[in-house]
Amino acid sequence: MELVNHTTRLVNQAYWLIKIRWLATTALCLLTSLGHIVFKLDIRELALYIIAIALICENMIALLWLYWLNRSGTIDNRAVIKRVIFFQIIVDLFIVTSLIHFSGGIQSPFVFFYMFHVVLWSIMLAMTNISYLVASIAVILLGSIALLEYKEILPHNNLPILKHLTQTLYQDSFYVIGMLSVFAVTLYFLVFMTSMVSKRLRRQEEAYKEANEKLHQKDTIKNEYVLRITHDIKGHLAAINSCLSVVTSNIYGELDEKQKEFVERAYARSIQLINFVRDLLRLTRVRLEEKFEKSEFSLRQTIIDTIENNIKYARDNLIELNASIDPNVENITGNQFSIQEVLYNLLMNSIQYTHPGGDINICAKDQNSHILIEVIDTGVGIPEEEQELIFNEFYRGSNVKKFSKSGTGMGLSIIKQIIIRHGGNIWVSSKIGEGSTFSFTLPKE
Ligand code: ADP
Repeated sequence: MELVNHTTRLVNQAYWLIKIRWLATTALCLLTSLGHIVFKLDIRELALYIIAIALICENMIALLWLYWLNRSGTIDNRAVIKRVIFFQIIVDLFIVTSLIHFSGGIQSPFVFFYMFHVVLWSIMLAMTNISYLVASIAVILLGSIALLEYKEILPHNNLPILKHLTQTLYQDSFYVIGMLSVFAVTLYFLVFMTSMVSKRLRRQEEAYKEANEKLHQKDTIKNEYVLRITHDIKGHLAAINSCLSVVTSNIYGELDEKQKEFVERAYARSIQLINFVRDLLRLTRVRLEEKFEKSEFSLRQTIIDTIENNIKYARDNLIELNASIDPNVENITGNQFSIQEVLYNLLMNSIQYTHPGGDINICAKDQNSHILIEVIDTGVGIPEEEQELIFNEFYRGSNVKKFSKSGTGMGLSIIKQIIIRHGGNIWVSSKIGEGSTFSFTLPKE
């Protein structure tokens, strides 16, 4: 499970608030125009449009602030991002207060808008003290509007759609105090509940993160262990293999038929085991490598070199090897050794799984941000239901086992890890008996 870090999540939330505000602004403008122009309602349309402009200004300020943080490289600073969100929520509270004032004061149905802010604040920042502060600011703002309208210092605005309701409730002290009390209690209770829930969720997330890190550490220890053991085995195997090769070469005398058969079988098996250990070693190394060393290199030249180095092997197997490389395909940034390994392994697979008389084509196409490379063969193909599975470790196609016993089933999983580490993608399309196309992408940068 991918766990997003706290600061990244806060940055996303800051942008999310901006998006929600664009929606709110659009809704406010639409409803005001509808009420004023279509239904000819007696509303304070000018004030409502000014509120919409205030929302737009707030969004612009927040966007500029985030842009500036991005440019100055301080976007990762959690305290700074919290300030951006705090700014947005406080300004929103004032804007909601003015909306409430122009839509009926203490009688306005928009009173509940305050709750969104309090809930958002509690969920986003999980800072209970500040959530209570935000709730208190909301209570003070609504209380001030109610008091100022009650004392007739501020004019009361009616919401025309609520005309049938008693219009003088805002001057009823019992109603005002009752409404404010219920509002304050609901708000504080909401803060209490949401803070509690979000704290629990955060604690759970921390636990997942810790478990994930522990798993990662254990995986690294296991890989290091495998690496050490395989390395030792490889040394012993090489010694056994060279002894067997001396015996099969008959330097120290002829073997009888039976002895020869057994020694040759042992020799063939030792080669198979060496290949297996070599692939396992490589796979473990790729898994352990946290980062590849990357530099700029010519992809065109790497493809050409791979083809030139293997063209003889392909011809020996009576296979035609061709390439077509877009003129734009030139330098990319990556690990040249690993990309060479990818091309080599794909090509070797194609040669291995193509009958004599077949063709192999390597194409490289420039697709703006990335390069698409395809290794196309006219070989045995891969059964459809196995096309996803062949990228798994140790998986070998059911149709190849009978004529190629030497494979390890690790080549494609090594290739996949290398491509993913480069920010690319790899997939296959194939038809049994007709051939396979292995495609992968590599970002240019
Ligand atoms: P290996 O070739 O050692 O078995 P790989 O990981 O390289 O292991 O490939 C996994 C499986 O994918 C192979 O066993 C084979 O079934 C299938 N495969 C790979 N390349 C091709 C190809 N060009 N044509 C047909 N099958 C392929």
